[in-house]
Amino acid sequence: MQIDGKAPYDSQNVFARILRGEVPCNKVFENEWVMAFHDIAPKAPVHVLIIPRQAYVSFMDFHTKASPDEIVGVMRSVGEVARHMGLEKNGYRLITNAGPDSGQEVPHFHIHLLGGKPLPLFPV
Ligand code: 5GP
Repeated sequence: MQIDGKAPYDSQNVFARILRGEVPCNKVFENEWVMAFHDIAPKAPVHVLIIPRQAYVSFMDFHTKASPDEIVGVMRSVGEVARHMGLEKNGYRLITNAGPDSGQEVPHFHIHLLGGKPLPLFPV
């Protein structure tokens, strides 16, 4: 399915259901801005998904609608999760897919945090 990163928010998407506690997840971190949990199909030794608590379809939706306080809160939280996962010494990669060309699968804005080994160069 192709995700339109600007479509109306679907409150039944799986990350919305994880936020509501309707679907289990392996949580690693949470604060007032975000929840972070292990990806169900990890692509690296550490593969964590960081999602805002509020409803945004994609990064396009987030950067246009979120308040400055929320943007700062979410971005600072991403750094906190990376530190919490012990990735600051050797580094990590952040990825967010937004819209059809990116291959975004879940229509709730999320940032992939990948690390734990030297990662292959970008495929594109
Ligand atoms: P996207 O392609 O949208 O950027 O990435 C979605 C990610 O969510 C994928 O890496 C996929 O493995 C992960 N994912 C999909 N469904 C679930 C789920 O129910 N639980 C968890 N923890 N991850 C999921």
